[in-house]
Amino acid sequence: MDTIFNSKQEFIEEYREAVRELSGKKFEITSDIDRFNALAGLIASKARSVSARTDDRFKKEGKKRVYYFSIEFLIGRLLDNYLINFGIRDMVDEALREMGCNLDDLCRMEPDAALGNGGLGRLAACFLDSMAHEDIAGYGNGMRYRYGLFKQEIVDGRQVEVADEWLSRGYPWEVRRPDKAVRIGFGGHVVGHTEGDRIFYSVEGTEDVLAVPYDIPVVGFGGKTVNKLRVWSAEPIDEHFDLEAFNRGEYAMADASRADAEAISAILYPNDAGEHGRLLRLKQEYLFVAAGIRTALDVFRREHGAKWELLPDYVAIHTNDTHPAMCGPELMRILMDEEKLTWEEAWDIVTKTISYTNHTILPEALEKWPIATFSKLLPRIYDIIDEINRRWRDSFDTSQEGWQERLRKTSVLWDGEVRMANLSVICSHSVNGVAKIHTDILKRSVLNDFYALTPEKFNNKTNGITPRRFLAEANPSYSKLITEAIGPKWMDDADELKKLVEFEKDPSFLVRVGDSKRQNKVRLARYVRRETGLVIDPDSIFDVQVKRFHAYKRQLMNIMKVMDLYNRLLDDSSFSIQPTTFIFSGKAASSYTFAKEVIRLINSVADVVNNDSRVNDLMKVCFIPNFRVSNAQLIYPAAEISEQISTAGKEASGTSNMKLMMNGAITLGTMDGANIEIAQLAGEENEKIFGLTTPEVEELRASGNYFAWDVVNADRDRLGRVMSELTDNTFAGLSGNFDSIHNEVMSNNDYDLVLKDFRSYVDAWEELTSSYADTRDWNRRALHNTAMSGWFSSDRTIREYRDEIWHA
Ligand SMILES: *Cc1c(COP(=O)(O)O)cnc(C)c1O
Repeated sequence: MDTIFNSKQEFIEEYREAVRELSGKKFEITSDIDRFNALAGLIASKARSVSARTDDRFKKEGKKRVYYFSIEFLIGRLLDNYLINFGIRDMVDEALREMGCNLDDLCRMEPDAALGNGGLGRLAACFLDSMAHEDIAGYGNGMRYRYGLFKQEIVDGRQVEVADEWLSRGYPWEVRRPDKAVRIGFGGHVVGHTEGDRIFYSVEGTEDVLAVPYDIPVVGFGGKTVNKLRVWSAEPIDEHFDLEAFNRGEYAMADASRADAEAISAILYPNDAGEHGRLLRLKQEYLFVAAGIRTALDVFRREHGAKWELLPDYVAIHTNDTHPAMCGPELMRILMDEEKLTWEEAWDIVTKTISYTNHTILPEALEKWPIATFSKLLPRIYDIIDEINRRWRDSFDTSQEGWQERLRKTSVLWDGEVRMANLSVICSHSVNGVAKIHTDILKRSVLNDFYALTPEKFNNKTNGITPRRFLAEANPSYSKLITEAIGPKWMDDADELKKLVEFEKDPSFLVRVGDSKRQNKVRLARYVRRETGLVIDPDSIFDVQVKRFHAYKRQLMNIMKVMDLYNRLLDDSSFSIQPTTFIFSGKAASSYTFAKEVIRLINSVADVVNNDSRVNDLMKVCFIPNFRVSNAQLIYPAAEISEQISTAGKEASGTSNMKLMMNGAITLGTMDGANIEIAQLAGEENEKIFGLTTPEVEELRASGNYFAWDVVNADRDRLGRVMSELTDNTFAGLSGNFDSIHNEVMSNNDYDLVLKDFRSYVDAWEELTSSYADTRDWNRRALHNTAMSGWFSSDRTIREYRDEIWHA
């Protein structure tokens, strides 16, 4: 392993110097924030030198470069992770102790870079880690939002959104690269110029902004490979500072052009509700696409000259979902308008270079833009899309039956809209889903017409997670135990975790598995107490559902289960349960009323249950505010039950299911997303599966024979009562009743099948928790889950991308 410090002494000297340089003070009198900034700054500068060496090596090796375009990278904190990946965490920990400070305290000073909503952004971050680990020349390309996703506070049970000013105390990992800035044009009109027998196009009268890159190093485990994440910030081209306006006292007006430009990279949009069609979002998408393509082409030209026909051999452009869908038309534009290639030459290069991952089959999440808006903002890109669409239409064999219907479904332009998923598929040589069932659904329904035309494009890449962050870093006590048992190789190769299977027969080892879980529960209980004041019992079962709030994820069904158990405990003295803490965490998009009401319901149930001494030794409800990567790393290791209860067919893959499995939680879930693969790998007997399957859901919907009221009426005592309690003041004490939830569920005939799956869910929960008393077998199942979780390492996922899509 390469090492960035030759000795502890050398580290201490360099670190002292770094603190002094940054703060101008002696180490002993500096604050933790100064100490953190200096430490991260020092590690970042070491990482940049390794990055330069990595880059030289890649150049020499003639490596293919992979650019991973994603509008979100939910990277979380980096310090602890990079110390682990450089293999110096223990040394630094010891050195800091000698210097009279504490590494964990410094790590907590780091802002949590919340440049993503949830799963999609976290996946991109895990992929960066794995690309560096696999020694792939892989670069993230994204947006540098000035404000990350909002900070969530809970007031009277309600979610309150506060601006997330993550940059306010500086961000030591990034380096601004003004020399690499790219001019981006919006608006204007397309002008043709005749040269010989061809017409070339340019856009005139554009309003331009400057995309300025910030580079963040990505340290691979082992410290040999350091790649880069490049995020783009929007700035004005020139200052255009209006001195006259300023002198008149109109300060905002004086700097208006700066504000207009900076607005483009000011905020991260929520991904799940009501934010479609925002012009700024479209500007963001074009800005990070156009600037990122420029970076990729500049590097290629420097290494290979303008031999564009070689581009697919040396560059792969991967588009994470449809937000970077303009990669295709933008690359066409540059190759034709600037590099003078013909359409056919350019198209061949583009389609061999670009690949696309689909992330959702929810129809409301499929990205579309009104043609009028689009063509005005990006007239040349629109013309190219129009031509892509025309050629697509012309390629149809009109003698085949049903061609009209197929054309309607696959067109890029339809009904006055630009359909970004269709654009992504047509511009790509590879289209993948993110779990087996998801890819099957893409082939069978959502993208079926494309699949019929080009089946060879379609492939599955089941998601993964990085074991460095989510096991080694998040769960030190368990990691230590695992390493004692099977050695440290699992961090390099998570398949090694399989060797833990042997230890399932070792009772004393299983006791230690339980001890480690309890330590993590104590750690989380402390965090909860500090953050919310709530006291939870580390000897109760920790039943965990943490993820974005969404109707299809069915947090509602989970809290209805809690309401039902509470009712029965009060009513029936012969009924009892294993003591359980029901833990929820997650944000709802600010415009997603239903999801926010479910958050309020959970907190309102918590308010009643947690203050009822009749049940408190058996149940508590805990909502942890402001879910993000840093507290996720405390929650996953403490979980014993992993709630993965989405309506079958709706969750593309999920990744928290994998993180929780790796940390030894047992999945209580539906046959959805990667839960299916989890159950297959670990054996259904080691998880608890319930509810309708995808075919059953489809059948039920198709039958037209489902009536929500009938389900409620057939179970008046329990389900009926829970539904009534939404409106009868039982839980209204904190901030009122929940009529809107009741109405939403009933008026949409239980669209997410919360009522339909309710009983089988509660039954499954009771069965699962009744087996908790057999501690040894529970710990064995927990260990078995960890042992079989290696396949869900994102290293495996990335190797599949490398071999089957990027050919890098
Ligand atoms: C893993 C992760 C997610 C994704 O969770 P799902 O349950 O797969 O939706 C969301 N947010 C954070 C902070 C994560 O770490």
